[in-house]
Amino acid sequence: MVEKSANELLHKKLFLEHQSSWFRLNKNEVFKFAEDYKRFMSKSKTERLCIANIIETLEKNGYKDLANVKTAKIGDKLYKNFKEKAVLAVHVGKNPSRMQLVGSHVDSPRLDLKPLPIYEDVGLGMIKTHYYGGVKKYHWVNLPLMLSGVIFTKSGRKITINLGEKADDPKFIIPDLLPHLARKQMEKKGDELIEGEDLNIIVGNIPIEDEKIKDPIKFAVMKHLHEVYGLVEEDFIVGELELLPAGKPEDIGFDRALVAAYGQDDKVCVYTSLQALITIKNPQHLAVAMFVDKEEIGSSGDTGAASFLLKNFTNDLLSLLGAKMRAAKLLELSNAVSADVTAAIDPNHKEAFDPSNSSVLGRGLSVEKYGGAYGKSYTNDASAEYMQYIRTLLDKKKIQWQTGELGRIDLGGGGTIGVFLARHGMNCLDVGPCVLGMHSPYEVASKADIYSAYQFYQTFLED
Ligand code: MN
Ligand code: MN
Repeated sequence: MVEKSANELLHKKLFLEHQSSWFRLNKNEVFKFAEDYKRFMSKSKTERLCIANIIETLEKNGYKDLANVKTAKIGDKLYKNFKEKAVLAVHVGKNPSRMQLVGSHVDSPRLDLKPLPIYEDVGLGMIKTHYYGGVKKYHWVNLPLMLSGVIFTKSGRKITINLGEKADDPKFIIPDLLPHLARKQMEKKGDELIEGEDLNIIVGNIPIEDEKIKDPIKFAVMKHLHEVYGLVEEDFIVGELELLPAGKPEDIGFDRALVAAYGQDDKVCVYTSLQALITIKNPQHLAVAMFVDKEEIGSSGDTGAASFLLKNFTNDLLSLLGAKMRAAKLLELSNAVSADVTAAIDPNHKEAFDPSNSSVLGRGLSVEKYGGAYGKSYTNDASAEYMQYIRTLLDKKKIQWQTGELGRIDLGGGGTIGVFLARHGMNCLDVGPCVLGMHSPYEVASKADIYSAYQFYQTFLED
């Protein structure tokens, strides 16, 4: 073998070379983890379903609802359920003087029903929707959709609907205009191809056979909903129903290395941080996993990260522990990871990325110092000191990682719950897998990066 020259050796030391994570990981472990992840994803499409599955997993692993306990001590495992739409869970470690918190969000872009959604037009029963979060509206046409959520009858009965999840359930669809007649449509700008008011969904076709009834198809739809669920039109004003892609998670590629699934932003971080929390043995501090709603609409609302839910949880926890410390102080001393996805470089749209600073699928966990838009506005720009702490943790456990800048400067941008964690004065950094097709009905992630996220959240929560 030819000896390497001094410059060749120095080159290896000085330059950051990226390698595929697949060389380092145990492929069987990675694939096994991905199978469980896919099962979780197929039954966790909405924020409510996701939170129900999180609570089920926590309880199976010895976590107790803190509403039902009087005191807490080192070693205890507790959770707080915020209105079935957000959860905070803690494993109390040896030294409860600070939190090691991993926060992710359970909501994903989707189509919500309008308050009065049902109507009839050209021989079809239809439902009007209002999109939630940042979507390319043209993604949502010609796609089998499922209906999920909660609605109340006038007498106060809570009805949970989850229709279209099973293979033989009926589905719903928004038809797109045929190409033969789309010359004018195709001249429009992308965000006008399908407009918000065009996202109307087909729900029926058989009219009631009664000449005296106006809107006989709407009548038939309403009659069905009344017979099956006891609902009347006014109940829809009260209800909270969502339309979501009906498909299951799928393996992608000859090598099955990738997963395509709806809602990986951000349920890939939800699942990996949940698994990390329930598998750690001896956390040093307060190991906390936070699962919040409403990130996709700015973290606003009573179950979003901008609310006081973290502070309230901390107050509850400190009083159960009998601790003297104030919640504000504990939060200020804490470390947080905002666990969210970033964009992977898309081989068909490379012009949207800085190739040396954006992430590549399968090259490890993406560490995103800042997000935001237009000159780092509205982002938590993590400090060098905290970046160094996270790098040391990643390297100690030999977890492969990369930088994750969200695309080229001034093309757009995005936020996470990071800003709402950092406002407590705690250290905070965004760390999560990169995905392709973010916010589309099928987002693509690498099983290697998903596994790396699990490993890192474990290490961080235990520290
Ligand atoms: Mn996200
Ligand atoms: Mn998002």
